[in-house]
Amino acid sequence: SGVSVGVAPILTKLEKDCATPLPVLRHVADAMAADVRAGLAVDGGSDLKMILSYVDTLPTGNEKGLFYALDLGGTNFRVLRVQLGGKEERVVATEFEQVSIPQELMFGTSEELFDFIASALAKFAQKEGEKFHLPPGRTREIGFTFSFPVKQTSIKSGILIKWTKGFVVSGTAGKDVVACLNEAMKRLGLDMQVSALVNDTVGTLAGARYWDDDVMVAVILGTGTNACYVERTDAIPKLPDQTSTSGLMIVNTEWGAFSNGLPLTEFDREMDADSINPGEQIFEKTISGMYLGEIVRRVLLKMTKSGLFGNSIPEKLLTPFVLRTPDISAMQQDTSRDLGGVGSILYEIAGVNSDPSARKIVVDVCDAIAKRGGRLAGAGIVGILQKMEEDSKGRIFGKRTVVAMDGGLYEHYPQYRSYLQEAVTELLGTEISKNIVIEHSKDGSGIGAALLAAANSKCE
Ligand code: ADP
Repeated sequence: SGVSVGVAPILTKLEKDCATPLPVLRHVADAMAADVRAGLAVDGGSDLKMILSYVDTLPTGNEKGLFYALDLGGTNFRVLRVQLGGKEERVVATEFEQVSIPQELMFGTSEELFDFIASALAKFAQKEGEKFHLPPGRTREIGFTFSFPVKQTSIKSGILIKWTKGFVVSGTAGKDVVACLNEAMKRLGLDMQVSALVNDTVGTLAGARYWDDDVMVAVILGTGTNACYVERTDAIPKLPDQTSTSGLMIVNTEWGAFSNGLPLTEFDREMDADSINPGEQIFEKTISGMYLGEIVRRVLLKMTKSGLFGNSIPEKLLTPFVLRTPDISAMQQDTSRDLGGVGSILYEIAGVNSDPSARKIVVDVCDAIAKRGGRLAGAGIVGILQKMEEDSKGRIFGKRTVVAMDGGLYEHYPQYRSYLQEAVTELLGTEISKNIVIEHSKDGSGIGAALLAAANSKCE
């Protein structure tokens, strides 16, 4: 039927340019392992920042008492409290609230923003019900998940490097964000204090570790992507003070900045050039939810010019980011013979009528991009595991090791998830991959931060 002959070669070239056969995966895993090692040696040693979290005490399940968490990472923030009952009772009660940040505060002063956060926290704390108990004389402690670039200086302090994600708040950069929050709470007369400052990936690892002692790595695959893992302090040459009690520390890789040996296409290069951060976050631009739909849009636009939809050039497809990752995921779930669901989505988003042969090509494009993303994410995970294994044979591959996964992309895109698992199995072989358990740990980061506040409580 109607698809022009010019379209097929574009698909063939795309599939070739973004192919991830085993040698490519192996190269990516090896390069990830090498970058992890180089970033641990010295600051600036590789694309990966390898940020020290100063988290050296992981949750064990024995934590007891009332703890709060505060999660600021975007236009919403969440407050949460949890009553922990120790090994037997575990999570006795938990409550949370989400508060959206008024637009003007994203462009205001540091004091205004932190005053707003502190007052929302105060209101939430006032509603503490009878399921929650604080021993007399103790201060309520908070685990603070703060997902902006921070130079961490201890478990409970960190200097903001810069605001991102649309925040343009004056007067915070270069300051300790924990001090900013503590000062705001003091201005309000709110008697609470921050016991742990963590990145969301670190929170996810802690949250998953509470339930499972074998969790060693956490990965976020949502709008963006990041990974962290449990490292031995003696394998961190750049760590100034080696006097950790446990000999372990969670390290935040910031792996979105990885760029070595990735199979990139003309569409990736153009998207990168048009982005607000050209040349940066290349791994993130290849595997994360913010970008997969946009890459597909760029391919479809080129195909359109070669007659994918006959003579019609859908104007709507000219707008960057109109095709979102949930849309390409939805199109891949259509198993009907005429791909009617794909047709509806294309009509809705691009305003075009399509015939089944064009829809089939669109699905093939989505699949090529999701397949590359999932398989490269899997190779990245193997790279981290491989580095850990190299330092102590058998510690990772010789026993059950869990990788905790979170984020909307991993959660809602089944093909992506299978491609990720498939790459891990291909790289490790069937025997070793039986030991590597990739597990979805939903929304563990909030409770993880509260658990880290408990594990690092000064009132122990
Ligand atoms: P964030 O990463 O923004 O903190 P999430 O972890 O919830 O939040 O991830 C949201 C992202 O997940 C979206 O930006 C989108 O890219 C991706 N996503 C959400 N729903 C789907 C879906 N149905 N299919 C594929 N990807 C999805």
